[in-house]
Parts: sequence; structure tokens; C-alpha cells
Amino acid sequence: MLVLFDIDSTLINTTGSGIRALESAGRAIFGPSFRTDRTEVAGRLDPLILRDLLRDNGVEDTAENLGRLRAGYRERITEILRPPGSERPLPGVPELLLALSGVKGVMLGLLTGNFADTGRIKLRACGIDPGVFAIAVWGDGSSHDPPSRDHLPPLALSAYRQRTGVSLPPDRATIVGDTPHDVRCALASGMRCLGVGTGSYPAEELSRCGAHRAVADLSDTDGVLGWLLGPG
Ligand SMILES: [Mg+2]
Repeated sequence: MLVLFDIDSTLINTTGSGIRALESAGRAIFGPSFRTDRTEVAGRLDPLILRDLLRDNGVEDTAENLGRLRAGYRERITEILRPPGSERPLPGVPELLLALSGVKGVMLGLLTGNFADTGRIKLRACGIDPGVFAIAVWGDGSSHDPPSRDHLPPLALSAYRQRTGVSLPPDRATIVGDTPHDVRCALASGMRCLGVGTGSYPAEELSRCGAHRAVADLSDTDGVLGWLLGPG
């Protein structure tokens, strides 16, 4: 069994640090009128967010400009989230990760729109060791152009196969996430989805989008664990 966690607003809430870091970097590089409030971010892939930020600010989305914004983002989020442990994970997250880590036959993974480097910085800032996740599929994992979150679940299954030598049926994997994007990519791959209402979408809305189960947050460790380990 594989449990794949989204990062932002599912495991952690860094109170808008990511977007503040992007705005600060954008202003320093492209000028003081650089704005982030016209660009959708929740549940989206970092490569697409950075591309749209450039376009929405009238900046050409060349590889060079994307690279400059990405480097500036990494630099600033490192400053904003210093020192590690300065932010908190969302309710119940450490307890759930600890409980799942102790269950034989369960592998923990990440499936997130974040870039790997900045995703790890965010997790560490919230006291979560990225090393507890045996596999990780990051926002730039898709080789498609344009990339989509829907491309990521099959990458998680192939990472599982590489690591264990065994193929996992998709319905033995669960994606835990806070947006309709998380739900959609799970359903598109035949995985189960646990919706968490700790982001911009309440649990009921995630259920309406097709999440097999949705909870307000992850604080009911036994209840969440029971559902994750059960037949669904
Ligand atoms: Mg999220």
C-alpha cells in the first residue's frame, strides 16, 4: 500500500511564504510592479505557476526568465523560512505520519506540485523530515509539455515498482490532498483519494469532486488510519 501526500495545505501551511517569496523575487528581478495576486496557485504545479506568473506580468516565459525566477524563489523562501522548525505542520500530521510509518506494508510518498528543492525546504521548516517519504514525485516530474498533475500518479507507481520490484495496483495507492486538482489526478489514475479541508476547499466540496473520503483535517489519527488501511 502506498499513501501519497500533497504538501501545501495538506501536510503544512507556511502561511503564504511561497507566494511572498515569489513576489519578492519577481519584484527584484523584473521590477516593482510584479504581482502574484492574478495567478492561481492552489494545487497547481510549480513549473506552471512560474510560467503563468511571468505571462501575467507581461514577461516572456523563456527558459532564462523561468530559471531566474526559480533561483530567486529558492533564495527568498530559504530566508523567509529560516530557521527550520519556525513553522508548524497542520493538525494531526506528525501523529499520522508516525502511525503510518509503523505499519508494515505501507510506504509513504509525496505527490506534490512543488519543486523538490523548495518543497524540502518547506517541509523542514515545519519540522517534517522529507526522509520519511520513501518516494517523491515533484512538480517538475512530468516530461509532458505542458505538464499536468494528472501525469504524476503513474510516476509514483513506477517509483514504487523500482523500489520494491513489485507492481502496485493503482487502487492500493491513496492520494491525500486539499484541492480538486489532487482529487482529479487520483481519479484519473484509479487511485483512492482522501480530501483534507485544510486549504481553500471544504471537505464537502472535495467529496463532491469525487474524493472517496474527505475530512476537515487529519487530527483524528485512528479514524484516518482506519480508512487508509481499510478497503475504502
Ligand atoms: Mg495543496
